[in-house]
Amino acid sequence: MTRIIDGNDVASDVRDGLGDAIATLEDDGVTPTLATVLMSDDPASETYVSMKQEDCEEVGIEALDVELDPDAPAEKLFGTVEDLNADPNVNGILVQMPVPDHVSNRDVIRAIDPAKDVDGFHPENVGRLVAGDPVFKPCTPHGVLKLLEDADVETEGADVAVVGRSNIVGKPLANLLVQKADYGNATVTLCHSRTDDLAEKTRRADVVIAAAGVPELVDGSMLTEGAVVIDVGVNRVDRDGESTLVGDVDFESAKEVAGAITPVPGGVGPMTRAMLLYNTVMATGRQTDVSVDLP
Ligand code: NDP
Repeated sequence: MTRIIDGNDVASDVRDGLGDAIATLEDDGVTPTLATVLMSDDPASETYVSMKQEDCEEVGIEALDVELDPDAPAEKLFGTVEDLNADPNVNGILVQMPVPDHVSNRDVIRAIDPAKDVDGFHPENVGRLVAGDPVFKPCTPHGVLKLLEDADVETEGADVAVVGRSNIVGKPLANLLVQKADYGNATVTLCHSRTDDLAEKTRRADVVIAAAGVPELVDGSMLTEGAVVIDVGVNRVDRDGESTLVGDVDFESAKEVAGAITPVPGGVGPMTRAMLLYNTVMATGRQTDVSVDLP
């Protein structure tokens, strides 16, 4: 029987554990605070930000909502980030990407204080992760590791194919999986759009993690029997005239071959959201010197 890995369940456990950590902080008079900065009128970005704020409120993290006119000069955003960096009541800063074309994504990421960089994208945090001394692990890769942990998937010595090499998912995930650490010690093949014969790479893998942004790219014929399949992809497609969400894995054919698989929705998505809360609580503990047990 193929095991369906339920991201909602695992995310709910993480949130419960964070509740205890937040109570510890509150006992010391500290309320963790995440500032979200939105400089866009893209409906998807607006939805992501409001979901993140609701998540915060549900677990007892204060959400500070900062909205900037998308046509404002870049300096406005950099000034805002500088103010939030300096504000001792703000523990985490999340600038919703993408920012408008006249602002450099890269410069925004660099402007955020690494101690408040709960996305884990600042070069200091990326460098620490690669060097095996991570502070903030980026939310989606961290969520994937938590799912593997919960499903008792042994990565040590395993062949893992990661499909996609973005800075927010594929690359940090591959780096985490090769660390000499729990849920590391894997042999990773990092695939991308120029990879020759993707199916040959995925068929060799004990664990396949798809993060390409291509609807149903990985199907059952590309998997070895019993493989663990983690589907990061979220793609909106038209099916029979109806708009629906599908992953980067063809769930129906893959589940006939896989030993365990995540669904879309309800797999990696809830974990990404939970790990943002995790990083915010972690940041708060580090900034206030309150010792918190993280789940
Ligand atoms: P990007 O578009 O930044 O990166 C996609 C990567 O996939 C690139 O490295 C690209 O290669 C590679 N790729 C594209 N087509 C193929 C192909 N045919 N074969 C092999 N590799 C291919 O995407 P993201 O990493 O930001 O996101 C990936 C997916 O995950 C998206 O569906 C996104 O919506 C979803 N996502 C989901 C999250 C969640 O919480 N569930 C969070 C973040 C993302 P190249 O580098 O050569 O261009």
